Amino acid sequence: MKNITLLGGTGSIGQQTIDVIKEHPNEFQLYAYAFGSNIEEALPVLELFKPSYIVVKDREIMESLKRKINYDAHIHYGVDALNEIVSLPDVDIVVNAVLGSVGLQPTLEAIRAKKQIAFANKETLVTAGHIVMEEAQRYGVELLPVDSEHAAIHQCLKGENNKDLKRILLTASGGSFRDRTRDELVGVTKQDALKHPNWSMGAKITIDSATMMNKGLEVIEAHWLFGVDYDQIDVILHNESVIHSMVEFVDRNVMAQLGTPDMRIPIQYALAYPDRTDFNLSDSLDLAQIGQLNFKEMSFERFPCLRMAYETGREGGSLPTVLNAANEEAVSLFLNDHITFLDIEDLIERELENHNKIEKPDLETILELDQETRQRVSHTVLKR
Ligand code: NDP
Ligand code: MG
Repeated sequence: MKNITLLGGTGSIGQQTIDVIKEHPNEFQLYAYAFGSNIEEALPVLELFKPSYIVVKDREIMESLKRKINYDAHIHYGVDALNEIVSLPDVDIVVNAVLGSVGLQPTLEAIRAKKQIAFANKETLVTAGHIVMEEAQRYGVELLPVDSEHAAIHQCLKGENNKDLKRILLTASGGSFRDRTRDELVGVTKQDALKHPNWSMGAKITIDSATMMNKGLEVIEAHWLFGVDYDQIDVILHNESVIHSMVEFVDRNVMAQLGTPDMRIPIQYALAYPDRTDFNLSDSLDLAQIGQLNFKEMSFERFPCLRMAYETGREGGSLPTVLNAANEEAVSLFLNDHITFLDIEDLIERELENHNKIEKPDLETILELDQETRQRVSHTVLKR
């Protein structure tokens, strides 16, 4: 039985993690549960599993939860409490499914406590990849990717020697606006942007998929997770989201991983690792039913966010922190109807252009820069 600390339990990945835990009562147990503020979503889960530790975003939510919950639990709030529940001695696995850079410090703590980490929170690797990977190496901890592309690559590389890897091929569905030209993006609505053709995901990542920033963040994530240069990472459009990614070896053999687009599959892979266990939440992949798989070359002109992510990844230093923070803030402003879809990329580009790169930022600098960038972006918008 593996004890699980789940960060971001009320979110899209969090809820799907709960599905997997429910399916395997003899293998996984919910031990600690963290979420932001969605008490309604959390309560039935808490009542069912009665995890001993619960962490929420702030004091107000904590007080409100305490009034509603009907069993004894340790209930706390804030980042320090997150850091605590990832490192409790009885915890075997930490699922990091919070949204955004709030996941950074708990990731570092989980590494230092040498926990198995099922890792969805890509923003953490984008904002502070060098620090996270340095700690992971020091403590001998492997981050097990939940992101479907990286889970695919992880499986393709199993038993291989990294020196034989020629390149990684990340597949991209293209997001909600894949069939539109740039001109046709003027005036698109939030509702349109939130309609992803293949995946059901949280709001932020669905917008990131439409801007292609999600793939940009994944390029940086792949760079850190698999230790490959940016020149060795290619992105290809693939409408069906059946091939989740591929790797090519020096001898031109290409390995791909295929599966139904269901995030519970990579979530379960990371929880069960290094074993595999039955998955009955969706049917087997039916290729005859799908009929054909399509591929198309990626365009950096059509998707400037992907270009910016490659550029900042290559330049490194503090630039990816700025890219991530500006994107998180811009997407949140878009979701709150303050800016248009095309403003997102403009705001990010402006932040990157005005930034004086810091070569190897430490944790404190990253946390400061993250806050400053968000504030500047929201200030720029809200004052106009
Ligand atoms: P959601 O927005 O659906 O969920 C985010 C979760 O984080 C919620 O449970 C939210 O709580 C919680 N949260 C936010 N702020 C805090 C905080 N300060 N303290 C504690 N919890 C907090 O996001 P997703 O599930 O879509 O994505 C989560 C991560 O997984 C992201 O990094 C995303 O890029 C990655 N990912 C997601 C995929 C998907 O299919 N959804 C696919 C691949 C990667 P609440 O809502 O209660 O406030
Ligand atoms: Mg992905």
